[in-house]
Amino acid sequence: MGDRCRGVDRRAVTRRPARFCPDCGAATGTRQYDGSTRRYCPACKTFIWQNPVPTVRMVVLDGDAVLLVRTRNGRWGLPGGYLKVDEHPRDGAVRELAEETGLVVHASELVLVCTDHHVAHPAEGGLISISFAVDRRRASGRPTPGAEILALEFVPMRDMDAYDVPAVVHRRLGAALSALWMPG
Ligand SMILES: [Zn+2]
Repeated sequence: MGDRCRGVDRRAVTRRPARFCPDCGAATGTRQYDGSTRRYCPACKTFIWQNPVPTVRMVVLDGDAVLLVRTRNGRWGLPGGYLKVDEHPRDGAVRELAEETGLVVHASELVLVCTDHHVAHPAEGGLISISFAVDRRRASGRPTPGAEILALEFVPMRDMDAYDVPAVVHRRLGAALSALWMPG
């Protein structure tokens, strides 16, 4: 099973602060817990925890080039997105890559690269990004932009500046190069 594990946690969890209880619909209040103000359902007598949401990113390397996609917001970045509720992050990364680029890889070919944590504002909730890398030679299929993607390109790293990618993409790329080409 490797990094797959089992376990059920029945606590109510939301990404944004819950104004209403996700279980019973009652308006929530707040209570102090461990020195922080938390949402609390007076009907269920339980806290509603606010937690970050996981996302996945894929770094596909082809020699000295990396696969970038241009999304509907006009920005270039790495393929990826949200996980389905019953999906392992590796499987989600494989699915997002196929949906956005047409490239097909097996989950066992992915190398775990790094995790990033992003909180724009506590009221909007946090994101955890889990990045994987894969060598293009492990992928099949012809690169084709998916329905949500305006364009895709394998971009040589020396040309990356022209694509104005966020700094976090450069960080993930550096980590992916280490993980994929210099294992151990
Ligand atoms: Zn409730």
